Formats: sequence, structure tokens, C-alpha cells
Amino acid sequence: MNSASAVVVGAGPAGLRAAEVIAQQGIRTTIFDQKASPGRKFLVAGRGGLNITNSEPVQEFAKRYDVPDRWTILLQQFSPDDLREWFQKLGVETFVGTSGRVFPRNIRTPMVLELWLERLDALGVDFQVGRRFHQMLGNDPYDLVFQRGKKFQLVTADTVVFALGGASWPQTGSDALWVEEFRRWGVQVREFVAANVGWERSWSEKFLSVADGKPLKNLLVTCANRAVKGEMMITKYGLEGGALYQLTRELRVAPQIEIDFKPGTTLAELKERLRGGVSIKERLVKACRLSPASAALIEEVAHPQTLGDWVAAVKHCQILLERPRPIAEAISSAGGVSWDQLTDDLMLRAVPGVFCAGEMIDWEAPTGGYLMQGCFATGTIAGEGAAKWIAKGRQP
Ligand SMILES: Cc1cc2nc3c(=O)[nH]c(=O)nc-3n(C[C@H](O)[C@H](O)[C@H](O)COP(=O)(O)OP(=O)(O)OC[C@H]3O[C@@H](n4cnc5c(N)ncnc54)[C@H](O)[C@@H]3O)c2cc1C
Repeated sequence: MNSASAVVVGAGPAGLRAAEVIAQQGIRTTIFDQKASPGRKFLVAGRGGLNITNSEPVQEFAKRYDVPDRWTILLQQFSPDDLREWFQKLGVETFVGTSGRVFPRNIRTPMVLELWLERLDALGVDFQVGRRFHQMLGNDPYDLVFQRGKKFQLVTADTVVFALGGASWPQTGSDALWVEEFRRWGVQVREFVAANVGWERSWSEKFLSVADGKPLKNLLVTCANRAVKGEMMITKYGLEGGALYQLTRELRVAPQIEIDFKPGTTLAELKERLRGGVSIKERLVKACRLSPASAALIEEVAHPQTLGDWVAAVKHCQILLERPRPIAEAISSAGGVSWDQLTDDLMLRAVPGVFCAGEMIDWEAPTGGYLMQGCFATGTIAGEGAAKWIAKGRQP
């Protein structure tokens, strides 16, 4: 084993992956986390099925991120195929589900985490949990101060990877309280905002009594000239779901959507199907298979009277949204360490030898496996960067 030492702070998927890569190079690696056990958000992510990546071609894959050119390069260094192979080597089969989403087969997420921790243990990675990163004192080697209750502990390392997460679900440990310390070193950190989050809109009691919790399927949703296919759900506070998550960036600028409830049917076809009979709404539900929840939503927001009003609202239903739900409820966050603060190895330019990985860096992507893939890719790159830093005798 190398006499040099590495510290990884943050035991989410990005930090665990970085620690694994560093330890594989024979470097003494210790991982710290402020929670009492590692991978809290990873476990939360797995509750509804752990969507680890996506099977779509890598060029399309990169377009899901806010800066596709950057992600084309990052994903070349740890691709969706590499991630599936990584799971295979862990002894976990994966399968492609709906919309190309990739999941582990026949295994629960706590077991996946256990297998991963066993692998890290076999590599000699030391875990120090219940310790909050407080401050960094000296540079190269780095003196890190951790806090445990009222006690402080000084730890010296030759290289450091921070993987402290974003700002959603703070109860899992990603509370973004590190931002102030990073700014003290002169590192630019963009304010965190909610991503992949529901939006608020007030509904009438009458509408909620029939539509609360109801899904809206096979929609074409447009915001600021960008149209996405997907689903949504009506909730007490407004709307939630994949179609909205894909439009997070546009919604922040202009919080208004247009829904086409029948993207495969033209206005003229709809009119044709609705001729004759008594209630237009009933005919829409029966002849055009519009869900009762969709019909109720159209009534709630567009108040259609005539056949023309109804048909127009089915194809172009405008909904003004009020605000995103609080960041604590979001699936992920945007914001964090700005890319121009980092080298290609994800090393902080202001603090050579210190690397960043995962959601604490300023990027965003929708749900669909892109978040986890982004964390594994940046964890791999930062881990390799830290190992290279040591191999080169702590020179860039
Ligand atoms: C409900 C939900 C469902 C999700 N489902 C999916 C999904 O199916 N697929 C997908 O791709 N993504 C999903 N995600 C997103 C995914 O879980 C995150 O993107 C991912 O966990 C981020 O990994 P990370 O390692 O960057 O940070 P985190 O997983 O947030 O880990 C950061 C770690 O740093 C520690 N830390 C923070 N500050 C300090 C400090 N000062 N000192 C010490 N330790 C500290 C925290 O305790 C935490 O353990 C989901 C998220 C949520 C909330």
C-alpha cells in the first residue's frame, strides 16, 4: 500500500465511487460522512426502484444534461455501459424497463449498498461516519477539521475529494452547509435551486374532489417552445411528474405550460369524432378516450363552453403555475460549484489536490437515470484525478 493518504468527504454514490477508484490504486483511503451511515439518499432513491442509468444512445444521453457537449466528454470517461458493467461485477444483474430506464434486477437497494460497502471494505477503505466536515486549514497536505458532537478532530490528507451532494432532501445529509466554507477559499458556488420538483397551482375543492392523485398520461407538454412527452400527476398543491421535471429549466424562466392531451390526434379529427350527441365532455371521454381527470383539468383551467372551446383546450390547454415546491422536497437540485472553478479532472483550481464530484457541482438533468449516471461519472473522474495527483507527487 502507498504511504500517501486520501480523504473522501461524503458517502453518497459520487463519494463512494471516488473512494473505490482511489483505493484501487493502493492509496490509503478514508471516507467521512456526517450521517451515522453511508448512502442515505442512495437508499431513498431506491425506494421506488433504483433507476441507475438509461439505455438510450450516448449522444442522445448527453443531450439530457444542461450542457450536452460537456457531458459527451464526461460520459466517455464512465459511460452508461460502464455503469451497467460495474453493477454486473458487483454481482447485480440489470434490466431495461420502460422509456429505456435501467434498474437492478431482483435485488433491493439496501442489498446493493451492502455489496458495494463490502467491496470497499475489501479494498481497505476506512469509514468514519457521524463526522461533519467543518473546515479546511492547511494546504498540501490538507488539514481537515471534522466535528462530532462537541468534539473536533483534525485529519491530514495528501488529496481530498469532496462529494457533499446538492440541497434536496437535507434529512439524508445533503444540507449544502459546506457552501460558505468553499466560498471562503475563493471558490464560486452558484446558489442551489430545486430541480425535478413539483409545481404549485391552486385548485378548486370541486376539482380536487375528483382529480387529486390522478395521473395524466401520454401528454405533450410545452414550456417556452420546448415540447416533451410524458406524464404528470394532479396533487393537492398543483402538479408533479416526469413531464414537468424535464422542463424544470424552462419553468424557472416562464412558469406556464401548454398541455396537448391528444398529441396523436389533430384538431380536425377531434372535431369529427365529437359531432352529435349531448354532452361534449362525455363524448370526449368516451369517443376520444380522454381521461376523466384530464377532462376535469380542462374544465378547471379553461372553462370551455362550446365544442370549439373544448377541442382547442384538449390540444392547447394553458396552465399558469405559481412556484416550485420547496427544494427540500425536490428529487435533485441545480447550482453548486461552478464548472469554471474545476479542471478537466474536477480538481478545484483554487485548491490544487482537492477534487469535487456528484450533485455538489453545478449541473442538472431530468429523472430517468441521468442523475445517478452523472454522480458515478464525476465520482470516477474525481477519484482518478486524486489518484493521479498522488502518483505525480502532488503536482497537477
Ligand atoms: C426521492 C428521490 C429519488 C431519487 N431517485 C433517483 C433515481 O431513481 N435515479 C437517479 O439517477 N437519481 C435519483 N435520485 C437522485 C440521486 O439520489 C442523487 O442525485 C444522488 O444521491 C447524489 O449523489 P451525491 O453522491 O452527489 O450526493 P448525496 O447522495 O446527496 O451524498 C452526499 C453525502 O455528503 C454528506 N455530507 C454533506 N455535507 C457534509 C459535511 N459537511 N460533512 C460530512 N458529510 C457531509 C451527506 O451526509 C451525504 O451522505 C433521487 C433522489 C431522491 C431525493
